[in-house]
Amino acid sequence: MSGIWQTHFRNTIQSLKGRHLHRSPRSIESGIGAKTTVSGREVLLFCSNDYLGLAGDPQLKAAARQALEKWGTGAGASRLVSGNLSLYEDLEARLAAFKGTEAALVFSTGYAAHLGTIPAFAGDGDLILSDALNHASIVDACRLSRARVAVYPHRDVEAVEHLLKTRSGEGRILVVTDGVFSMDGDLAPLVELARCCEQYDALLLVDDAHGTGVLGARGRGAVEQLGVCSSNIVHMGTFSKALGGLGGFIAGTQSMRDYLVNQARTLIYSTGLPPATLAANREALRVVDEQPERRTHLRMLEETLRSGLQTLGYAVPDDPTPIVPVLVGAEEAALDLSAFLWERGIFVPAIRPPTVPEGACRLRISVSAAHDVSHVEALLAALDEAVGDRITRCLERVAERRVCLPGPGCVL
Ligand code: PMP
Repeated sequence: MSGIWQTHFRNTIQSLKGRHLHRSPRSIESGIGAKTTVSGREVLLFCSNDYLGLAGDPQLKAAARQALEKWGTGAGASRLVSGNLSLYEDLEARLAAFKGTEAALVFSTGYAAHLGTIPAFAGDGDLILSDALNHASIVDACRLSRARVAVYPHRDVEAVEHLLKTRSGEGRILVVTDGVFSMDGDLAPLVELARCCEQYDALLLVDDAHGTGVLGARGRGAVEQLGVCSSNIVHMGTFSKALGGLGGFIAGTQSMRDYLVNQARTLIYSTGLPPATLAANREALRVVDEQPERRTHLRMLEETLRSGLQTLGYAVPDDPTPIVPVLVGAEEAALDLSAFLWERGIFVPAIRPPTVPEGACRLRISVSAAHDVSHVEALLAALDEAVGDRITRCLERVAERRVCLPGPGCVL
């Protein structure tokens, strides 16, 4: 390879290391569970998004195995060519019933769902309003869309309303928000956003990657949890988190689905999902419907963790989600706290920029229904030990975390 490129690669890596921003993924050497083998060591895993413990579930494995035997390993082509296995129809019908919509469309990943849908919905001359803490896949999709993008401060409905009121000459308007914010575990103000969108004829796209399967009495997600009642919402979700598999989806009207089949480039130009994945995803929806006790157990663990952390003096948000951020602030301090836990057999990596804003480094703890109370107690004991240790002197209050956010109207 040419010297210029090698120098560029090495200099970039060096610079990241110098700023404590270098990342190198650990090797995961067993299936994902409460206890998982990571880099040769069995540790308690408190960082996966397998919130319901379905990634290693025997029922999902059996469904995947049967589909593998019957259909083979791959779809062989894009869905618009010969990759539209009838397993998709079955899965999408179940998904639409699950989300309470007319129709649903499955993409290869959640990332691909956004990259396909957002540019299909909004283009040149249109306006997208996007929460400052939206997931990277939304940010990238907005950039790809060629629409004007206004980033509003995190969860700020007044700013959204102001932007809608003062818009000038734009075509269609799309408002997009995470339902549950992935790094903070807080919920979007969906009732208020839905009301605002209805008033100004904007479409609301809710990314419920982290709420699907977890929130609401029936696991339908943030919209169910918050009791949002609006036909003006397009639901996005993913099978890769609580549902233990892989694949993103968009749920809404039949005509919206038909439109996306014809306009979403990540669907048109990418191979369909493998049969085993489609079958496991379908089974996951059945399990979510039929085993509410998984959510009850998860909720109990979340509450044990939250109240335990508060007793120890950690400031943690109250949102009822399995994502519990422990704000640390500086990169080095987050790495230190993560290493401190690793030494005690607990794996929670440090989350640093660009995943979170500068100065808002954290440990993003996530609990799963695969855990039991003793696992959460072990985590709390280790964090108790960390209190008083030099590491935790760097901990910042959660209230101070809203740093470096772009103001309303800031264009991406
Ligand atoms: N949205 C959010 C909020 C996410 O956290 C993620 C994954 N981290 C995605 C979308 C992308 O989903 P997937 O992993 O299925 O591509």
